[in-house]
Amino acid sequence: MHSFESSPNLLIFDVRNSPDYYFQPMSELLDTDIKFLPGVGPKRAELLSSEAGIYTFRDLLYYFPFKYVDKTRFFSVRELDTDMQYVQIRGKIRRFATEGGGAAKRLIADFYDETGVVRLVWFKGQKWVLNAYKPDKEYIIFGKPTLFSGAFNIVHPEIEEPEKKASRVSSALEAQYSSTEKMKDHFLNSKAITKLVSAVFAQPSLRFTETLPSPLVKQMGLMTIDNAIFRIHFPDSNADIEKARFRLKFEELFYIQLNLLRYKGSRAKKTHGFVFAVVGERLNSFYKNNLPFPLTEAQKRVIREIRTDLGSGRQMNRLLQGDVGSGKTMVALMNMLIGADNGFQSCLMAPTEVLALQHFNSISRFVEGIDVQVALLTGSTKKSERSRIEKGLLDGSINILIGTHALIEDTVRYLNLGLVIIDEQHRFGVAQRARLWQKNDCPPHVLVMTATPIPRTLAMTLYGDLDVSVIDQMPPGRIPIKTMTFTDAQREKVFGFMRRQIEEGRQIYVVYPLIKESETLDFKDLEDGLESMARAFPPPEYAISVVHGRMTSRDKEISMNQFKTGQAQIMVATTVIEVGVDIPNASVMVVESAERFGLSQLHQLRGRVGRGADQSYCILMTSHKLSAEATERINTMVATNDGFEIAEIDLRMRGPGDLEGTQQSGMAFDLKIADLGRDGQILNLARSRAEEIIANDPDLSESDNQALNPNLKRLFGKNFSWSEIS
Ligand code: ADP
Ligand code: MG
Repeated sequence: MHSFESSPNLLIFDVRNSPDYYFQPMSELLDTDIKFLPGVGPKRAELLSSEAGIYTFRDLLYYFPFKYVDKTRFFSVRELDTDMQYVQIRGKIRRFATEGGGAAKRLIADFYDETGVVRLVWFKGQKWVLNAYKPDKEYIIFGKPTLFSGAFNIVHPEIEEPEKKASRVSSALEAQYSSTEKMKDHFLNSKAITKLVSAVFAQPSLRFTETLPSPLVKQMGLMTIDNAIFRIHFPDSNADIEKARFRLKFEELFYIQLNLLRYKGSRAKKTHGFVFAVVGERLNSFYKNNLPFPLTEAQKRVIREIRTDLGSGRQMNRLLQGDVGSGKTMVALMNMLIGADNGFQSCLMAPTEVLALQHFNSISRFVEGIDVQVALLTGSTKKSERSRIEKGLLDGSINILIGTHALIEDTVRYLNLGLVIIDEQHRFGVAQRARLWQKNDCPPHVLVMTATPIPRTLAMTLYGDLDVSVIDQMPPGRIPIKTMTFTDAQREKVFGFMRRQIEEGRQIYVVYPLIKESETLDFKDLEDGLESMARAFPPPEYAISVVHGRMTSRDKEISMNQFKTGQAQIMVATTVIEVGVDIPNASVMVVESAERFGLSQLHQLRGRVGRGADQSYCILMTSHKLSAEATERINTMVATNDGFEIAEIDLRMRGPGDLEGTQQSGMAFDLKIADLGRDGQILNLARSRAEEIIANDPDLSESDNQALNPNLKRLFGKNFSWSEIS
């Protein structure tokens, strides 16, 4: 066990006193393979790495507890209550007995103090328990009380003798670590992890190298690294936990920001970009003759921001955020026209074929009579058409290529690609974006557009190296969407409402959830739903079109068209219609099993309506009983139409790891301790401190900053090509 004699203050190690400073700034011990830690061995090492991402001693020390339990407090049996998490009770075992048979066979014991009796229960290790503990001897038990047929039970309690507990040096607040079922099966539970962490602290050669510049540690009043790591695992007080957490969260966010800023800085210096110098005939004639509506002020401002980038001689890397329906496509188009005016090709990449086709159709219509060639390339483009397009791209006759990820395949080569626009980027993996850089001698300008409002903290972490533009204004004449919620029992009422809307000439989406893990099940939901829809809205009076992921793209297109042209009044779909589909006459969105959707997804879906001049409605169908979280999501949807507000709530409720589409984005979500939903202030501090340091010392070569480079390399070395492109 660790003790305060080996306490962290003695472990501080000033790199500058070390002769190895330039060659070995990191402690070797911390980089040791976890299998060499006493108590681990090859088998547990395998589990630790595959289940918890722990490969080295350092990884183990950075495997932080998710909570602490107070073991200074004792409870009496009478005080027990159902909402208690863990309790510690002093008392005696009255007698052991076994109950049940076969797999349900369990060992039970009555455990009593002066105030009452609780029942201890074991399903496993019964023989061992009978050997280890004796009736009528005093023990301290620790566990979670549950109420079972009117009496309190504690299943698999920890049991300790009072004398042993007293002689053991331990912290008052005991760290609890998460472990997976597989880990638990091999006895790698929270307690075992505590032991392993202690084993690292017991290593005589353990040294910590301060990971932050010492002026920064002083300025911010941070705990030093050795203290913080020790106290996060073995705190003596809540104040310890707070200080250690603050330090480690700050460090984590600081390095992410430092990496982004360093990267942004060096890119700005090194990467020269194509210059789109002129505003030419195409844009001018489009603006004069073709623009179907006046641009909003927000669109104008954003176009100016982008144009400045395109003329600057530096390669543009910009994120364009704008809520659903704010008019991002027009911004994209005008910039592609500027590209064409300057002799460059552009491509616009959409996440689905449906969307690519829609972009192609609307953009082709917008540019009628303008001298630009627009082509569509998707996975289902016919071979002959494909070779025609490939030829046109190589000889430069095609100016604008619209498509899905097909347009970044290696076989697709351009004469002079100057601008890449990525719509709804969160569907595109990092690797796909990386390929863009190979498409021309000099990397093309990149504009990433997203309607998924990204909370500020998240944007700073994910895209902290990108410049950001925001369209924060809707085209005029939009009537706010009304959102209502109904339970399945009120379905007839909803059908009645739908009929009246159809009578008034409106069209209706009905969306069913589609969750990857149970595609078959969801498909059944869709089929059942479709059947009941067909009964409630029978032909010939009504027509229903269907779009789902199992259809060929040809069939999807036919279905979409039926709905677009108004032949069908209802479109039943899975979430394939989620992003970007634009049918102004569709003014009602019915979401089935709305409780199964995330907040941002619901908001995206709602954005499909409200595009025309009529009052639009979003109807959230839910089952009768909802979890507290589902209720909050539904209530939020009813209460607000503001995408950013919804995104903030979503982030707070779920944490960034679960936000839609963020899983693929990699490192930013692998946060070990910081929580982007809660630690916005720490993030701001980390960002400003990182900015100051980079501004004063861009290469991080000053003596105070020299510890930073090796840490950056260790943390982000593998991801460097990633940051090259995002
Ligand atoms: P999103 O930002 O979600 O991609 P779109 O570009 O699809 O939004 O635009 C939504 C709708 O609003 C489209 O029908 C588009 O033609 C229209 N639109 C865009 N800008 C304006 C504007 N300034 N005034 C009126 N309608 C506009
Ligand atoms: Mg769009």
